[in-house]
Amino acid sequence: MRVSIYSNDGSTSNEVASQLKEKIDNSSKLQYDGLNPQIVISVGGDGTLLSAFHHYNDSINNIRFVGIHTGHLGFYTDWRDYEVQQLVDSLENDNGQSVSYPLLSININYKDGGPSDSMVALNESTLKRINGTMVTDINIKNEFFEKFRGDGLCVATPTGSTAYNKSVGGAIISPEFDAVQVSEMASINNRVFRTLGSPIIIPPDEWITIIPDNPYHNILTCDQLVVQNRPIQSITYSISNDRIYFAQYRHTHFWKRVSNSFIGVHDND
Ligand code: NAP
Ligand code: MN
Repeated sequence: MRVSIYSNDGSTSNEVASQLKEKIDNSSKLQYDGLNPQIVISVGGDGTLLSAFHHYNDSINNIRFVGIHTGHLGFYTDWRDYEVQQLVDSLENDNGQSVSYPLLSININYKDGGPSDSMVALNESTLKRINGTMVTDINIKNEFFEKFRGDGLCVATPTGSTAYNKSVGGAIISPEFDAVQVSEMASINNRVFRTLGSPIIIPPDEWITIIPDNPYHNILTCDQLVVQNRPIQSITYSISNDRIYFAQYRHTHFWKRVSNSFIGVHDND
């Protein structure tokens, strides 16, 4: 089985990555292959896993991810830094077991007449403005829904619902649902201006289009990346046809993951 390691630059991560590399090189069942891997092991935190996902974006359907966490939160990561040998044992006994989660599809049309862009997010995409109020139309399935005024909008996947989405008051959604959630950031609500004020969740056969009044001054993000600065005509969000696959050698139930990450360790565990 072809395995790649994607590590951040921390000293613990470097140490774990070199241990892993040595064990892979010494295994008759595993080959290191950074270009065309079947398994990508991310070593670091969630940010590292997000970077690994974007690095291997083009071959996402042929890859299963595994996350080792070396500090930080590690919501996406099932393995700890001291479990390298157990992970290698699991890789050697791999029988293709996997779990998959929905992704967010982002289609951007620009006002400069240039080609449109499409990309996929694992956590979320945001559209924000910092030098003034962001004013956009929000359409659902091509029908006008509302005029938004405020700091920005956050459009999240179920596994991303515990990240930025949570900070802006979105609900946590189990990734058993194929859903996209749109949350407001500091919307202006008064006698003159009105938005819905609550997060909305759309199913797989619906899509959301955001049309900024001003094509300039908006910051568009896709996970930890800022998308290049071209004048935006519209952005359409929907559930991607692609999914992310994780090698599932051990199963951490989603709600257990949430409670471990946000509530902490229970005495009676
Ligand atoms: P970061 O600043 O390290 O990320 C912020 C925190 O979010 C970190 O503790 C990170 O975990 C955690 N995180 C990332 N994905 C998560 C998920 N799906 N569920 C629960 N927690 C998650 O930056 P980063 O590591 O490059 O991650 C980029 C992400 O940061 C973005 O996709 C966005 O979701 C989030 N973000 C949040 C805010 C906010 O809440 N106000 C603002 C900007 C970005 P690790 O420590 O393990 O990396
Ligand atoms: Mn991080």
